[in-house]
Amino acid sequence: MGAIADALMAYARPLLEGTDGSPEEMQRALSLSTLCYNLALVPEDKREDALAEFRSKGGMNEEQFVEFRRDVIDPMIRRHEAMFPGLHNRVIPGALAARPATATPAPAQPQPRPGDPYPGTDRYAPCPCGSGEKYKFCCGKKGR
Ligand SMILES: [Zn+2]
Repeated sequence: MGAIADALMAYARPLLEGTDGSPEEMQRALSLSTLCYNLALVPEDKREDALAEFRSKGGMNEEQFVEFRRDVIDPMIRRHEAMFPGLHNRVIPGALAARPATATPAPAQPQPRPGDPYPGTDRYAPCPCGSGEKYKFCCGKKGR
């Protein structure tokens, strides 16, 4: 058997074990597993359509279908996700939130005010930087 068939057999195991071992039931369990396998690969937003189609073919009433889905289909889809996570490239809700998002820049810390760049300069004298402004209005300006 090929790798896919092996994987499908492993996947079908709970359903196969639920049969009485007769070829008919084994076959039924296998086709059901195949169905669930394929359903699990259908994007979730399209799964309802696929299920509706299955339901109309299977001739189940609403109640039977709800029960069948709860007892067989949903657990088998979860089993598929657990067994073949690589086939599910979807984002698991919550996984994204748990992971630190792209590095948020740390809030800007107020820069410590640099000390007087020219200590001892007369505040009314021309600035030593050569700008022509008085020192108190230039490099000595408070709050720079
Ligand atoms: Zn200056």
